[in-house]
Amino acid sequence: MKQLMQGLTPPTGAALLLALSLLTAGCQTGGHPSAVAPPTRTEQQASTPTQVRQRLADGNARYVAGTPLARDWATARTATAGGQFPYAAVLSCLDSRTSAEIIFDQGHGEIFNARVAGNILNDDILGSLEFACQVAGAKLIAVIGHTECGAVKGACSGVQLGHLTGLLERIKPAVTEVSGGQSVEPATQPQLVNAVAEANVRLVLRQIRERSLGLRALLDAGKIGLVGGLYELHSGRVNFLNE
Ligand SMILES: [Zn+2]
Repeated sequence: MKQLMQGLTPPTGAALLLALSLLTAGCQTGGHPSAVAPPTRTEQQASTPTQVRQRLADGNARYVAGTPLARDWATARTATAGGQFPYAAVLSCLDSRTSAEIIFDQGHGEIFNARVAGNILNDDILGSLEFACQVAGAKLIAVIGHTECGAVKGACSGVQLGHLTGLLERIKPAVTEVSGGQSVEPATQPQLVNAVAEANVRLVLRQIRERSLGLRALLDAGKIGLVGGLYELHSGRVNFLNE
């Protein structure tokens, strides 16, 4: 150290100011506030479903505004390597533009994210949500569809393709609910497609409550929350659905 110090000139006033500003800025970049550390078990368990929903809404607002938190991924990775205590479980679409961590501005260890085309529910997804809430302690399930969803369009059009055919069948009740049994033409009826996407989210919300005894018990006891939302591809905004 002595050798390192030798030959260094005393810091000038400007250098001191620069050093101070760097210290106070911490790991911020571009003036954005820094993310806090990933949640601990205590923080997870102390949070309420309402607080977690607000946490997602706040994160989406940052994403829309283009002011995501500055993240130190390496530090967060180290902090979560020994365990995870996410606040929420998000079920969203396979779509490459709807990654939950990005649209809600969340980092390592903050949310579970189950993704499948059309954000449909099946036994495996339901089991994943049960794990997230009943075992890992998440406080909120958010089912997030999105506008102009290709899977929803496929269900409206009656697309048949390998294993996709069975997946799209799960969206058909939402198509019927919106169209009243009439056909929906995605190319000329984009509003109807988005209405089906919303109906599909509501369908999945009902299915979660109906099909999982464990999750229903937690919901009825107010220990977890369940919320739906629709992500707008163009604005980036998630509009949470009224309950
Ligand atoms: Zn989609």
